[in-house]
Amino acid sequence: MHNQLFSNHASFGRGDMNRWPVSKKVEVFLLKCDVHKEETLNMFCDEHSKLCCANCAFLNHRHA
Ligand SMILES: [Zn+2]
Ligand SMILES: [Zn+2]
Repeated sequence: MHNQLFSNHASFGRGDMNRWPVSKKVEVFLLKCDVHKEETLNMFCDEHSKLCCANCAFLNHRHA
């Protein structure tokens, strides 16, 4: 069972990562902010338990 899984995975080894379509890789990690369309959600607010962009963090998530 597992051998089948691993052999499938092997065709996408480290070296093949670069051949993945860029969109496949970025759409998971580079979510855009709903408010600031150009900003990437690259911050996480512990207090609100949500992702936010740098602008949102500055505007809405100043807890200090
Ligand atoms: Zn934002
Ligand atoms: Zn917050």
